[in-house]
Amino acid sequence: MHRLILGKRPDKIFNSVEAWRKFANSLDHRIKVLGNDGQSHPAYEWVNGKEIQIHRMPDVPEDAVEYIVEGIDGLIRQIGLDVNINYSNSHSSVEEVRKATECSDTLYDGTLDRDKLVRLLVVESWRNPIYGGRPHADVIITSQYINWFTSNRGSAGFLHGYMVISLPKDRQIPPEEIVRISRHEAGHLLGLYEHHYPSITVKGYDPTSCNMEDGAPVLNTCNMHLDSLRFFWLGLQKRTGVTFFK
Ligand SMILES: [Zn+2]
Ligand SMILES: [Zn+2]
Repeated sequence: MHRLILGKRPDKIFNSVEAWRKFANSLDHRIKVLGNDGQSHPAYEWVNGKEIQIHRMPDVPEDAVEYIVEGIDGLIRQIGLDVNINYSNSHSSVEEVRKATECSDTLYDGTLDRDKLVRLLVVESWRNPIYGGRPHADVIITSQYINWFTSNRGSAGFLHGYMVISLPKDRQIPPEEIVRISRHEAGHLLGLYEHHYPSITVKGYDPTSCNMEDGAPVLNTCNMHLDSLRFFWLGLQKRTGVTFFK
């Protein structure tokens, strides 16, 4: 009951699990996005590094990292992907976040401008082999609110290879909820765009609660979404020649 951001909008109803898998398998991921230099960039190439880097802003408590890694890692392992999550060896993203804050034209001072941030991330030298970097996705953990949507606890997207988790000091979130949010955003990072409800219907899956529902109410990701992620990455593997599965 969702579509992927990639490719054309599918038919409303898929008559079988097979049709759904075939659709996910055929989605083209090669869509360029705008960088902070005004140019279009193939940010999707982050997948070739098979790496997700975690960046904790200095004022975020360090123990938040383990819950966020747990959420991402749980989904990656369930899909079966061979993607590394690196925290300690990551480059700093403090300057990028500062720039995305400074230029924020939001209602509240100090909020993170998501659009500015992703334009900075897609041109960062650490992702670019020409500057000695290597392709990867960035996970930013910040104490800021994201834009003016104070209800937003996370944001992520495959095309920009980014994920933000927002942990403001005046909004306490229990550890198990941080794990659920992180897993949900990892679903977006890995290719899911829409939520579990209810833009399309796939016949053949039992109805169940799903982590990809708005607000990530449960930890479990439904089989329909696990399938769309698996078959999307199998399609990437086929088209790129890179092995993404363990
Ligand atoms: Zn689902
Ligand atoms: Zn979401």
